[in-house]
Parts: sequence; structure tokens; C-alpha cells
Amino acid sequence: MTDFAGLESRFGAGNYAPLPVTIVRGAGVYVWDEAGRRYIDMMGAYSAASFGHCHPRLVKALTEQAQRLDTISRAYFSDQLGPFLVKACALTGMDAALPMNSGAEAVETALKAARKWAYKVKGVPTDRAEIITAEGNFHGRTISIIGFSSQTQYRDGFGPFPPGFTRVPFGDASALAAAVTPDTAAFLVEPIQGEGGINVPPPGYLAEAARICKANNVLLLCDEIQSGLGRTGRLLACQHEGVTPDGLMLGKALGGGMLPVSLFLARREVMQVFTPGDHGSTFGGNPIASAVGLAALDTLIDERLIERAATVGAHLLDRLSAIKNPIIREVRGRGLFAGVELHRNMVSAGTVISRLLQAGVLTKDTHRNTIRFAPPLIIDESQVDWAVDRLTEVLNEIAASTVQA
Ligand SMILES: *Cc1c(COP(=O)(O)O)cnc(C)c1O
Repeated sequence: MTDFAGLESRFGAGNYAPLPVTIVRGAGVYVWDEAGRRYIDMMGAYSAASFGHCHPRLVKALTEQAQRLDTISRAYFSDQLGPFLVKACALTGMDAALPMNSGAEAVETALKAARKWAYKVKGVPTDRAEIITAEGNFHGRTISIIGFSSQTQYRDGFGPFPPGFTRVPFGDASALAAAVTPDTAAFLVEPIQGEGGINVPPPGYLAEAARICKANNVLLLCDEIQSGLGRTGRLLACQHEGVTPDGLMLGKALGGGMLPVSLFLARREVMQVFTPGDHGSTFGGNPIASAVGLAALDTLIDERLIERAATVGAHLLDRLSAIKNPIIREVRGRGLFAGVELHRNMVSAGTVISRLLQAGVLTKDTHRNTIRFAPPLIIDESQVDWAVDRLTEVLNEIAASTVQA
């Protein structure tokens, strides 16, 4: 049998440390390895696989469009992009949308829009615009984005970084208010931090942040690349607090698990700063991406996956919270977006996810020694139960051996 893991390790760049499993097939909430062993996917490709693997409707949208028209660039109109943008705007309540590919590109687009808005609309002096970000943020991996990361490893060795960014503690509205200056263009925030450890801010935080932004003529930019599109039981996580941002980033699940599709959406006043030649992307909004993006949005609504994430997600959080084990420090989350933080001095989350892999459950650790659960939104309660039972067993075994030692 070909040593696929070895090939990746020898010829790859080493910027990932995959778990020792080679996945060759997927369907719904399950994937299979080379030996035909089945795993339940509780990771959901960091929320990119929200529709489950190889969803027939999305496969159909992808393959039919691939046979009709592929990439033409944005030098011409296509019959696919318009309907996709209309749908995205209608669902989110935004006026306009700018298509990119990766999530990081959508964030870069938001940063460019906010800066240009600050100069052209707000009247900030040239090159003085500031963007406020949150501690523990994750917005992607470009140089400017990692420049305002609070993770030392993400920045180490990659400087110098562009200026114009500051950071305030996540979940602290008064710190945001204190950080705003006349030159502040925007506050960029994840309504629930994903990579940072599935961090749910205190109730009222986002609404208060929105109020502070409005009072100071500062744009509220919500990065919903991971928390959006039904993940938390609402279309957007910011809707839990009745907040409509000035700019919004979507990605990950927007590509239906098929290919990278991202959007920066905004109010007209913000989006109108872009003129021809200002910004762009060769593949952004290409016909295949547009067809898949539209099918993903339609599937989300038609299959009532947002409602499903709310009910099955509540079940997941109930089940996780009910696990009685001294190793668990905290269970956090909303909808089908949950984190189980473990006491660092007792066990590393990495050890637990390796044991879960052996037990047939795919997941991944994230910051704050936390195990992440972001399964496809199509998951049902019995599948959740099965995965939580495996977690319970693994934690019990570890707790028992810790006591013996
Ligand atoms: C994953 C993620 C990104 C970056 O998306 P890529 O497609 O990996 O570039 C940005 N913001 C958030 C909140 C994310 O979770």
C-alpha cells in the first residue's frame, strides 16, 4: 500500500502535523480510511464541511457547472455570479457582496474596504486609519492578518508587519470604547472565537460593541467565516444579539466543502468605496464557485440546517456538559460549535484527540487545551450521542490511569 502520509511528510512543507490517518472517502457525517475503517467527523473541516461530505446536491451543482462553464475571470459577466450574490445579500441583509476564495482574502478585503471608507467617507487623515481587533483572534494567515494575532507562534519569524492595528481584550466592551480614537476605521471581531478556543463572549457584548461602533462612526466588521451559515443555530452568530454588522465575512461552509468560496458583504456606503481596478481576484466569484456557493445557501435553507444546528447543538452541549470527569475544566459553545477545555496539568487535548481517533471519532484540539466539536450540521442526535459516548469513555480511561499513577 502506498505510504501517503510519508509522501506528504517528505514532499510537503511541514506546516501541518496531521493525525495518523489517511482519509480516502467521505459521505455525510462519516469518512473512511484506506483500510475501510469508518470515522465520525466531529471536526467538519474547521466548519467547512457543514453539509456533510459529498452532499449530492452540492456535488451535482459542482459537476454540472464544471461541464458547462469554468473560470472566465471577472473581465466578463457570468450567468452564475449575480444569482449567488443576490441570494447572499438577501439572506444576510447586506446591500452588496464581493467574492473571493479563501477566508483570509475576505478578511483582507474587509480591511481594505474599512481603510478606504475611513479616508473617503469618514475623513480620517491619509495613512492614519486604525483597525481594532480582539485578543485571541483568528482571521487567517496572511502577513497583515497574523500581524495583529495575539498568538506568538503565528507571528514569530514573519515580521515586519503592517501598522494600523491594535488589540483589545475579547468580550470587554469598555476596553473597546476606551480604544476608539477619531482615526478608528473599524472593529474587527469574531462573534464567537473559533481557533482561539471556542470562546463565547459574555451576553450583551456584541450588541454593546455595535452600539459603541455606531456612536463613534466606526465600522463593525464581523468575521463569521467559522461561526456563520447556521453553525451556532442562527444564520449568523451576531443575530443572537440582534446585531447587523456594517461588514461581514463568510467562507468555509460557503464552499459546501467542495472548493474555496468566500464573500465580503457590506452596506452600500462601505462597498461603494471600491472602483474598477481597486481590488480583485482571478478566481473569486468564478462560475463554479458561484454555482456551488448558491447551492450551499439554498441547501442550508431548504434542509432547515440552521434550525437543526440549534436543536441538535443544544443536545450536544447538554451531553458534553453532563460528562462528569475531573479532567474537564469547562464546556463552551453555541449550536453545533462546542469546545471542551481540559485541565492542562492533567492531560493535553492532543492526547485525547489521538485516543478519540482510535475510537473512531475525528476531532482536533485548539487553543486553551480545548477539544473542538464542529460536526456537519446534518448530524443527528444519535450520532452526537455515539461520539459523546466515545469521548466519555476516553476521558474516563485517562482519569482512571491518572489516579493510578
Ligand atoms: C478559518 C478562518 C479564517 C481563514 O479562512 P481561510 O479559508 O483558512 O483563509 C478567517 N476567519 C475565521 C474566523 C476562520 O475561522
